[in-house]
Amino acid sequence: MIVPSLSERDISTMREDTPGVSQRIHFNNAGTGLALAPVLDAVKNHLDLEARIGGYEAAAAAQSGLDAFYTGLAALIGCRPHEIAYVENATRAWDMAFYGIDFREGDRIITGRAEYVSNYVAFLQMKARKGIEIDLIEDDEHGQIDLTALQAAIGPKTRLIALTHIPTFSGLINPAEEVGAIAAKAAVLYLLDACQSAGQIPLNVAEIGCHILSGTGRKYLRGPRGTGFLYVSDAALDQIEPPFVDLQATKWLDENTYDLVPHAKRFENWERYVAGQIGLGVATRYAIGFGMDRIGKRVCELGAQLRAELSKVSKVTLHDKGKNKGGIVTFTVDGETPAQTQQRLSAHNMNVSVSSASSARIDLPARGLDALVRASVHAFNTEDEITRFMKTAGTLP
Ligand SMILES: *Cc1c(COP(=O)(O)O)cnc(C)c1O
Repeated sequence: MIVPSLSERDISTMREDTPGVSQRIHFNNAGTGLALAPVLDAVKNHLDLEARIGGYEAAAAAQSGLDAFYTGLAALIGCRPHEIAYVENATRAWDMAFYGIDFREGDRIITGRAEYVSNYVAFLQMKARKGIEIDLIEDDEHGQIDLTALQAAIGPKTRLIALTHIPTFSGLINPAEEVGAIAAKAAVLYLLDACQSAGQIPLNVAEIGCHILSGTGRKYLRGPRGTGFLYVSDAALDQIEPPFVDLQATKWLDENTYDLVPHAKRFENWERYVAGQIGLGVATRYAIGFGMDRIGKRVCELGAQLRAELSKVSKVTLHDKGKNKGGIVTFTVDGETPAQTQQRLSAHNMNVSVSSASSARIDLPARGLDALVRASVHAFNTEDEITRFMKTAGTLP
C-alpha cells in the first residue's frame, strides 16, 4: 500500500502550531517533542478554569475532554477506549502491568538488547525477589532482535516476552509484529514498550499482537510532560493483578471484599494531572488528524536524509542499527565527546541530546560505546533545517 506524503501545507500548519520552531532547530523529539500550541492552549485553559472555579468543578466541566483522552489513544493504537489507562508516565504504566504478573520461581522472561534500562532493572529485581530468569536475545545481522533465536528461546517456563519497539538510543525499529506472531503461536504474554514509537510510526495492537503496551505523552506524541498511558487487552486482563489498588481501581463491596473495576481503569489511580490528561488527548487527536501513516513516513524519510548527510562527513560515525530505521539518528564525532558536540550545536540553537550507557546498559557497553549524540527528527522538522544543521554539524573539528 502506498502511503501518501504530508503536503507542504500540512507541514507549514504543523510549524505554525509549534511556537518553538522560530527559536530552535529541535532535533530532540525523542527527549520531548516540541510543544504544540493546541496542546498548550488546552492545558493552560484547564489550569485557568481550575483557578477560576475550583479543581473538582473544573474536572467535572471537562468530562468530554477527559473521555476524549481514551477515545484518542484507542484510535491511535487500534484498541477499544476501555482498554486504555491514564498513568503519570510510561515507566509507571509499564510497571503497573509488569509487577502485576504473578511470576513464579523459574519463570523466564525473554527480552532484547534494545530494552529500556528501567525495564531491565525491574527484571533484575524480579529475579532477586522471585527467582525468575532472563533470556537476553542477541541482535541479528541487521541489529534488530534475532527472531530465530527468540523463537528458539521459548520453552515451557517462558512467561513473558518484553520488547522495546524503538530504543531510546537508536534508529532501530524492532520487528514488533514478527515477535507478536511468535508470541501468539506460543501463547505467551507479550508486553511492548512503545514509548518512542507512539507518535513516531503507526501502531496497531491487533496487527502487532501485543497484550500490553506502554507509552509516554512527552516524546513523539508531543503531549505534556508527566503523562503516559497503558493498554491492557481485555484478553490479558485476568493475567495481571494491579500491584497497587485504590478507590479508583476498585469497587468496595463490604468490609472485607472489593472488586477490581472492569477493564484497564483498574491500573489507574485517582489523583491525576487532569490538564495533562486533556492535553495528551488533544496531542493524540492532532497526530491522528494528519494520519499516523503519513507522519511515520515523513519521520523515517527525514531520519534517512539526516543519516545520509552525516555519512558524507568523514569525522562522523553513525551508530544506528536495524533493518528498518526511524527518526532517531545517533552518531559520534572524532575529536570531541558527545557532550561537546551537543554543547557546540546548542550554541547555534540546535537541540540534540546525549544517550549515555546509563540509559543503554545492555547495548552501548557491549558495542564499546559509552555515549552517543542523538538527533531525533519529527514530521514538523524540515529538509532546510537538516541543511542548516549540517552546516554546523558538518564543520566539526
Ligand atoms: C523514555 C522512555 C521510557 C520512559 O518513559 P517515561 O514517560 O519517561 O517514564 C520508556 N521506554 C523507552 C524506550 C523510552 O524511550
